[in-house]
Amino acid sequence: MDHCSAPLDILIQGGRLLTLSEDNRLIEDPLIGIRDGEILFIEEAHAPLVSLYAPKEIIHADGCVILPGLINTHTHVPMVFFRGLADDLPLMDWLNNHIFPAEREYVNREMVHAGALLGIAEMLLSGTTTFCDGYFFESSVAQAAYESGIRCVAGMGFLDADVDHVAEAEIERHLQAAEKFLSKWLPERPMITPALFCHSPYTCSPQTIRAIKEVARRHAVPFLIHLAETSDEKKIIMNRYGHTPVHHLGALGVLDDMTVAVHCNWLDEGEIACLAANHVKVSHNPQSNMKLAAGVGPIPEMLAAGIDVGLGTDGCASNNDHDMFGEMDSAAKLHKVMKKDPSIMDARTVLTMATMGGARVLGLDRLTGSIEVGKKADLIIVDLKKPHLTPVYNVCSQLVYAASGADVQTSIINGKVVMKDRRLLTVDLEEVMDTVIRIAQDIKH
Ligand SMILES: [Zn+2]
Repeated sequence: MDHCSAPLDILIQGGRLLTLSEDNRLIEDPLIGIRDGEILFIEEAHAPLVSLYAPKEIIHADGCVILPGLINTHTHVPMVFFRGLADDLPLMDWLNNHIFPAEREYVNREMVHAGALLGIAEMLLSGTTTFCDGYFFESSVAQAAYESGIRCVAGMGFLDADVDHVAEAEIERHLQAAEKFLSKWLPERPMITPALFCHSPYTCSPQTIRAIKEVARRHAVPFLIHLAETSDEKKIIMNRYGHTPVHHLGALGVLDDMTVAVHCNWLDEGEIACLAANHVKVSHNPQSNMKLAAGVGPIPEMLAAGIDVGLGTDGCASNNDHDMFGEMDSAAKLHKVMKKDPSIMDARTVLTMATMGGARVLGLDRLTGSIEVGKKADLIIVDLKKPHLTPVYNVCSQLVYAASGADVQTSIINGKVVMKDRRLLTVDLEEVMDTVIRIAQDIKH
């Protein structure tokens, strides 16, 4: 009872707790004490005198499951503005003839901030407590995350105007922008982790990729890149550099445990071994890959090779939402149908990818991804008292195959309640939606 010495900030009482820690515990009727942003204790049964803990707030979780907040390892959150703008197209057509032109014309600081707030609101309401982003004007995304209290890895985006002819001055501009961005946001760790995001091997020159990774290494921040997303990309990179995309990055010396490779759909055995040997992290985005028919990554093989894999939604132009529950359901089913094997990618594997797997991918596994004493209190409470979630035999199955983001009742991040009883407490949702609707009126479609 030594944790009674100072009042708790929050006491969660009742329901069932899925810790998703190594020991894989499911605790019935738990008591979870939260103070100063951290999980102070987890008691296995109701203590007789809850008032002894002197909590400032008690949250009753009867009929609910408490689990770690979900971790979205890849999105471009301001792209909520392009949700439904250009659907049902192949990736290169979609990107070169619709998305890149729209971004050149409409993306600015105000738009990015408003879009980020809307996407964050959507994530908070659907159980995501950490997200990793990559975009232009990324300081505005980091600012929106900071204001709303969501944990964020914010990746400043880089592209070259002409990958075959990159001037020294352009690289110098990239480097100055990277340094400025990092120095602004590094002090906000671990709520905001700044990162650097090279869009892809086909839109960034070798010089840019090498130089940006050098800066990321010097500051020990994540380096993000789309990799081996489509077969077209593989052809382009083979023709241009004589290697596959993975071996191209390997030859540039940028593959290590702080590199997050997004997609990785087109890999052979040697490339899987190369990513594993270099401890590269992988973000798997099944709904985006299905919608753009980009390909299906060898995720079971990557997991078997010991690669850390997390789940991501990708931006809303290719998904078209930020609901990680939908992403879990798709991840489980996509690989079953591909392999004609219903036993692979079971519910627990997928739920682990969306929590601890994601935390490992982003280098945040000592802070978040599971519910354990000493970790940050990033957790969500899902209401199981619903017709589509009744009865409950297996909580993991229920969460992956039957629940959706709308079943999340309460979200807590860093020990702060950010959404309670489906109401956002840190974002003025009506104001944000009005702003997005106003800006979207100017976007041609
Ligand atoms: Zn992406």
